[in-house]
Amino acid sequence: DTDLRDIEALDARKSDGIAVVTGASRGIGAAIAGRLGADGYTVAVHYRQDSAAAADVVEKITAAGGTAFSFAADLAEPDTGTAFWASYDAAAGALRDAPVRVLVNNAGVVVNGVIEEFAAEDFIRQQQINATAPFLIIKAALPRLANGGHVVNISSGATRVPIPGIIGYTMTKGALEALTLPLAQHLGPRGITVNAVRPGTTDTDMNADWLRGNSEAMATVVASRALGRVGEPADIADVVAFLASHDARWITGQIIDATGGERL
Ligand code: NAD
Repeated sequence: DTDLRDIEALDARKSDGIAVVTGASRGIGAAIAGRLGADGYTVAVHYRQDSAAAADVVEKITAAGGTAFSFAADLAEPDTGTAFWASYDAAAGALRDAPVRVLVNNAGVVVNGVIEEFAAEDFIRQQQINATAPFLIIKAALPRLANGGHVVNISSGATRVPIPGIIGYTMTKGALEALTLPLAQHLGPRGITVNAVRPGTTDTDMNADWLRGNSEAMATVVASRALGRVGEPADIADVVAFLASHDARWITGQIIDATGGERL
């Protein structure tokens, strides 16, 4: 009869501690922040500029009984690792010295264009935000990451389904996946899991210009995936929440496809 022991064990598995989510003022990041807050984490909502939107996410988490605060940092800046955590420390108050249990590298930008059209400065800026910043943020976070914690990097289905019109973006996400695999080996001895999630096309501001209100584009997206619809931010947030939970303790160094079964 293991019933009582099971209940106690499940209780000990509840998510608590601090979860830092980058780019959490909107879209997939906001959904991740909300879900991790509902799971019991104290959520640090990172944003670039839109303090009102970030405050809104914090407000939603607290209204649902959770705990959250927000802080700003521009990941396009070369000193992003240091500046990011300095801003975090200033906002975290008494929590500043508490270990970070979950770090979700979600912030990202997409710059469209085939290779002939790609301006070098756009390429470099996109690489900085999508790949270099996560590297520097993780590097600067190493002393404060909790042993037994979780790092989740948000990649893209673009690394599996090649699209010439987002070649620069695809390279940045390939770099993020290439960061994930050796880092999982490196942090394994500390019990820290490191995984990536590949969202497929998701209905967020990132795709607003070509997808929203464009029934032809929407039909193409819907037809290209087994589950026959476009992704919602919650579809991705739930996968991240799993990877950031005790239930996923034995999963590390993996890239999880969350595209609704996108066909090549
Ligand atoms: P979004 O544009 O709504 O959100 C992107 C977030 O990144 C925003 O909060 C933004 O402020 C932040 N960000 C951008 N540049 C920044 C900078 N210089 N400094 C700090 N923060 C910055 O898009 P989204 O769809 O929610 O994207 C979230 C993640 O999911 C991104 O990494 C994106 O590449 C990835 N993704 C999205 C899709 C999709 O179809 N929407 C598909 C695959 C992967």
